[in-house]
Amino acid sequence: MKLLIMGRPGAGKGTQAANIKDYYKIPHISTGDMFRAAIKNQTELGLLAKSYMDKGGLVPDEVTIGLVRERLAEADCKNGFLLDGFPRTVAQAEALDEILSANGIKLDAVLDVNVPAEKLIRRMVGRRVCKTCGATFHVEFNAPKVEGICDNCGSPLIQRADDTEATAKNRLEVYDNQTAPLLDFYSKKGILKTVNGDQPLDKVFEDIKESLK
Ligand code: ADP
Ligand code: AMP
Repeated sequence: MKLLIMGRPGAGKGTQAANIKDYYKIPHISTGDMFRAAIKNQTELGLLAKSYMDKGGLVPDEVTIGLVRERLAEADCKNGFLLDGFPRTVAQAEALDEILSANGIKLDAVLDVNVPAEKLIRRMVGRRVCKTCGATFHVEFNAPKVEGICDNCGSPLIQRADDTEATAKNRLEVYDNQTAPLLDFYSKKGILKTVNGDQPLDKVFEDIKESLK
C-alpha cells in the first residue's frame, strides 16, 4: 500500500494514520512529526522549521522535499508507506511524482479526510499529544482515561505550540490557498478517495478501510 492522507489541519489525519499504520503494517511518515522531532532535538532543521510553524506557515518546499526524499529511500518504505501532511503545495506534489516515478512506484490511493472548516478550530485547540509516543487525544472528543496522561505510555500530554486559535486560523487559510488545489491534481489521476471525517473516530476508520478495499 502506497498511500497519502490529506485533509484540512485538524481533520484527523494523524489519528487515522495511527490506525492505518497498524492495520496495513506500513510506516507512517508525517512531515509535521519530523519537523517537531527536529525542533525537540534542537537541530538546524528544527530551528528553521520552527520559525515557519509557529506562525502557521509552510516550511519552504526545498527543505521539505529533501526530507521526504531521504525518508522514502529508507528500507522500511520498500513495501509501502503512508504519507501524512506531504505534499502540501503543487511543487511538493510534482516533486513526489518525480521521486516515485524514478523508483518505478505509483501511489495506490490518496485519502481525503473531509471535515467542514468551521469545526476544525475546536479540534485543534482541544488537541493534546503525548510528549513521548506522539499519540493524539482531544479534551472533549477523544479524552484520555486520566486527564493529561497518555493512555498508551503514561507520559504527560502537551498542547502543540501551533494549536492556538490564531495560528489554527492561519493554517486553515494556508490549506485553502496552497494545499486544496492538490485534491484536483489527484482526482484527475483517478486515485482520490474522499472520506467523511465528520463522524466518530471508529466510523471514519471503517470508511477508510472500505474505500481502500
Ligand atoms: P490532523 O493530523 O489532521 O491535524 P489529528 O488527527 O491530530 O488531525 O486530529 C485533530 C484533533 O481532533 C485531535 O485532538 C483528535 O483527537 C481529534 N479528532 C480526530 N478525529 C476526530 C473525529 N472523527 N471526531 C472528533 N475529533 C477528532
Ligand atoms: P502538521 O503536523 O501536519 O499539522 O504540520 C504542522 C506544521 O508543520 C505545518 O503548519 C507546517 O508549518 C509544517 N509542515 C508540515 N508538513 C509540511 C509540508 N509538507 N510542507 C511545509 N510545511 C509543512
